[in-house]
Amino acid sequence: MIPSVAGALFAQAASAARNETRGATHGGTLEFAVLGSSSSGNGAVLRVITPDASRQILIDGGLSPRATRGALAALGLALEDTNEILFTHFDHDHAQAGWARVAMMSGLQLRCSHRHLNAALARGYPLGAIETFDPRSTGFDLGPVRVIPCENAHDDGGTVAFRFESVAGTLGFATDLGRAHEGLINLLRGVHLLAIESNYDRAMQLASNRPTFLKDRIMGGRGHLSNDECIEVVRALMWPDSPEQVVLLHLSRECNCPHLVRQLWISDLPTLAPKLTIALARQSVGPWRITAENRRF
Ligand SMILES: [Zn+2]
Repeated sequence: MIPSVAGALFAQAASAARNETRGATHGGTLEFAVLGSSSSGNGAVLRVITPDASRQILIDGGLSPRATRGALAALGLALEDTNEILFTHFDHDHAQAGWARVAMMSGLQLRCSHRHLNAALARGYPLGAIETFDPRSTGFDLGPVRVIPCENAHDDGGTVAFRFESVAGTLGFATDLGRAHEGLINLLRGVHLLAIESNYDRAMQLASNRPTFLKDRIMGGRGHLSNDECIEVVRALMWPDSPEQVVLLHLSRECNCPHLVRQLWISDLPTLAPKLTIALARQSVGPWRITAENRRF
């Protein structure tokens, strides 16, 4: 953390948030919302409050600090209460350059895989604000949240998917996935809330005017997950317990259609279709709130 007056204020706000127990039930509360999700910007917020701790984590910084502040405010949350941004990877739509200044001014922690350190620095993020983790480790703790990472193929640098565990409940977050693999399915199995990419419809992708190299990049196993591939992953992780809510991330505007996705879920995964939410490009969805008392398993 970089020391500064603003940094001290930020830390103070964060520590006030940590001490805050408002809204916490006996076992705590896990809240999650997607602030925006598309190739023009991705960001989500996870907040866990337990009787003696609280943590507010942004997942990806692909929305500008200003847009993020506004989206958080609409949810009744403050950017200043954020403890860190946890990055899946550093493509522009997941890591806006503007967070460098916020990190320098406020002491906001930027957390990423050690494999992504150079990409973070290339984005202009200050070394002193970055804390890295081993994406092949068994996990690490962020206050009351246990974070379990899982690497995925995506372009050259790869991405990290996360399982967040707390006494209140669990969240699985996986985007820009290349191709689903067993490790990912095991990571996401049994989560209460699942946020997962459903990027494109294969027929729409093939029929699009996009150049062949781009289609190959997206569909070749180091790009994005199609609607069918997403459904395959969710079907594989549904046993023994299926998620209570599923949020679909990162739908392509050009090569996907929310109506079509919903129809696909109604026919392929009818029990989960009513629990489905499709994230929007520049609008929040959620929040979902899980407690030990209100969850099914
Ligand atoms: Zn992306």
